[in-house]
Amino acid sequence: MQFTRGLLALVILIAPALAPAEECEVELFVLGAGQDAGAPHIGYPDDPAWADPALGQTATSIAVVDHVAGERFLFEATPHVTRQLQLLDTLAPADGPGLGLDGVFLTHAHIGHYAGLMYFGREGAGADGIPVFVMPRFAAFLQGNGPWSQLVKLENIVIQPLAAETPVQASKGIHVTPLTVPHRDEFSETVGFVIVTNASKTLFLPDLDSWDEWAQASGIDLATRVVELDHLFVDATFFQDGELTGRDMSEIPHPRVKDTMERLSGLSPELRQKVRFIHYNHTNPIRFPASPESALVSARGFDVARAGDRLCLAP
Ligand SMILES: [Zn+2]
Ligand SMILES: [Zn+2]
Repeated sequence: MQFTRGLLALVILIAPALAPAEECEVELFVLGAGQDAGAPHIGYPDDPAWADPALGQTATSIAVVDHVAGERFLFEATPHVTRQLQLLDTLAPADGPGLGLDGVFLTHAHIGHYAGLMYFGREGAGADGIPVFVMPRFAAFLQGNGPWSQLVKLENIVIQPLAAETPVQASKGIHVTPLTVPHRDEFSETVGFVIVTNASKTLFLPDLDSWDEWAQASGIDLATRVVELDHLFVDATFFQDGELTGRDMSEIPHPRVKDTMERLSGLSPELRQKVRFIHYNHTNPIRFPASPESALVSARGFDVARAGDRLCLAP
């Protein structure tokens, strides 16, 4: 990696017009943007992605790569982690042997966010000491329950406990701070992560119950966070009420994309463009780039995160 970068720097010096994305020191990659179970969805025979796999989606995950240190960090270990690491390897190949992961940050213990850890164990990668950053209840859950406890025992993973609102240094150029958010916390706390580089602050918050509850608990509303941060990847599980046919959605949490856009509509276009919707359910029409709902999101100045997107967090 160092050699390649040195060579690259030389090439850039000679021919600045060829400057590639690797000029970026810390880069974020979207590896998946769907809700936990992805699409096509189990028990949903009408999903168009059965016929056209290009319309499918994997569960939400991002990677943050420190190109200078040659280190890669994964946010969420989804049930689709095998394909997602393959995607990452094509976008930002690993430096060394093994999975090339220098740390994994997990928001909470719902299947789409951590069940991919199972592939790190004996039956899969047989990984060696991958640091897994989780909150204390989540750590106890992994240590105390199979099959996760075996990963800990065999040291496929090494638990790194986090504390709310306390930054940890991931690499020389990346600090990560967990923020607790309201969500169904059966097995663990739920957090979003603020990823800080020397040039930007990015919120990764794929899952929460409601903006109002979070604002009440934290004393900071979403619009203020948009002002204070540079990039926000936020929960877009549902587009609007009514999309789950045959179910009363009034009791189902998660902000709706329509409502999130509405509550941020007073912000300037520069501020609105910081917001990217992620973690969309198979019923959410923004999963289809050509849908009227995706067009509405762009028309209102927001963005939909898609697998393969890349974003420079420190030039
Ligand atoms: Zn989820
Ligand atoms: Zn969840």
